[in-house]
Amino acid sequence: MDILLLGPPGAGKGTQGAILAGRLGLPKFATGDLLRDAVKRGTPVGLQARAIMESGQLVNDDIIMGVVREELAKPEARNGVIFDGVVRTVPQAEGVTRLLAELGRKMDHVLFFDVTDEEILGRIEKRRAIEGRADDDPKAVATRLRAYRDQTAPVLEWYRARGGVQVIPALGPVDEIAARVKGLLGR
Ligand code: AMP
Repeated sequence: MDILLLGPPGAGKGTQGAILAGRLGLPKFATGDLLRDAVKRGTPVGLQARAIMESGQLVNDDIIMGVVREELAKPEARNGVIFDGVVRTVPQAEGVTRLLAELGRKMDHVLFFDVTDEEILGRIEKRRAIEGRADDDPKAVATRLRAYRDQTAPVLEWYRARGGVQVIPALGPVDEIAARVKGLLGR
């Protein structure tokens, strides 16, 4: 089963994705985590992505599609994947759809984590204190929210027009949100 997690930065995709991955026994694949790792290791992708990520802008679609292609080719991805923050532009949505189709698969569920801007800002501030991510500083956060509105919000409409998005109200305790996800998926 392939599941896409959509939502603004700080919506809880990473946290809920990890819970879901554990429960369903599927790998969770987050482009943000892979890119941060590439930056740390100084790989060619990391060198290209570093400054863009730190500014809060989106990394270009070709780089992302290369990373997605590599992940989907891994044996552990053969039964499905939890895509966390992977699809952030309409061309990426088209690209991922095509790659899955080549494998005889489709996105089985698209889950949208719905939170208010106020909640997002509070969560990111907390995360910054814990993880110290460069792109959690206020200026980069403003850029990330703008990128979300301009480039990622249309992805939601793209999937809505093609079969549906399941909306998860993502305010409240982590275990309650996890229970909502389980209720929606039926597993
Ligand atoms: P995240 O950890 O998901 O918040 O991602 C951190 C940063 O990595 C983002 O602000 C982008 O610069 C970059 N990034 C991660 N995933 C993508 C994607 N699918 N498309 C473009 N940029 C991405």
